[in-house]
Amino acid sequence: MNRELHPWQWPEAHWRGLVNQVRAGRSLKPKSWPDGARCAFALSFDSDHETNELRDGGKSIGRMAWGQYGARVGVPRIAALLRRHDVRASFYVPAVSAMLYPEEQKALVEAGHEIGIHGWIHELNSGLTYDEERELMLRSSDALAKISGKRPVGLRTPSWDFSPHTLRIEKEMGLLYDSSLMADEDCYELLLDGAPSGVVELPVEWVRDDAVYFMMNRFQAQRPYTPPADVFDIFHREFEAAYEEGAIFQLTCHPHIIGYRSRIWILEELIRHAKAKKNVWFATHEEVVRWAKAHSG
Ligand SMILES: [Zn+2]
Repeated sequence: MNRELHPWQWPEAHWRGLVNQVRAGRSLKPKSWPDGARCAFALSFDSDHETNELRDGGKSIGRMAWGQYGARVGVPRIAALLRRHDVRASFYVPAVSAMLYPEEQKALVEAGHEIGIHGWIHELNSGLTYDEERELMLRSSDALAKISGKRPVGLRTPSWDFSPHTLRIEKEMGLLYDSSLMADEDCYELLLDGAPSGVVELPVEWVRDDAVYFMMNRFQAQRPYTPPADVFDIFHREFEAAYEEGAIFQLTCHPHIIGYRSRIWILEELIRHAKAKKNVWFATHEEVVRWAKAHSG
């Protein structure tokens, strides 16, 4: 009935119901971080590779080459940087990416990094039925577990596209956490239809995403608009403020976006600044969530 009404005609119960589908519940900001660290530093990489183009139909050989760059150059360069500085991170990998590059996932897990769910083929969840989304999520989890040898405990929805079914499926799967929403800067418990779901959110933000500043599409008006030094400045200010607040510095990058010679230094500089503080905890998203859940409230 309400579908036919304009939003300004909806009864209060309707708009309240929409808002309450998925909501931030109690804060899970921990009282302290491990070993007296002042701040948690959580890097993440979404290894989309060719799946962005495949999701859109797979017609562009050129855009698939760009995706392959992410696997061929981006991930090895990122992995070498993390190894040099002894930093562990989280990689969210569509199952199709993992099947195209199983050795990449195995090497990352061996180096201590986390592999999390990132859809089957980078599909948009909001276009799926509950059954379709659930089947893809279970299939993706199985594929990652088989390839990496470890069952993933966290999900980042492709394109941070969260459907009305996503949280229910995460809860049913017993996932520890989600990292696709942005109602806070600290971890929080997700509410499903107003009730605690048991699933923790480790929030992301567009402002801390490399794609926002660097994405490019030859056939659209989309062009990179921020010089790398300015992107570093934004990320660095995010880190410094998180440090002052004793909070989490969380960053989302993509191997086919940040992996370039003129950009990878942004991550190295951030790590150097954080290491110079002497009391920053570098951790995977899973570790941050486990700690926050156990040491808050
Ligand atoms: Zn992605």
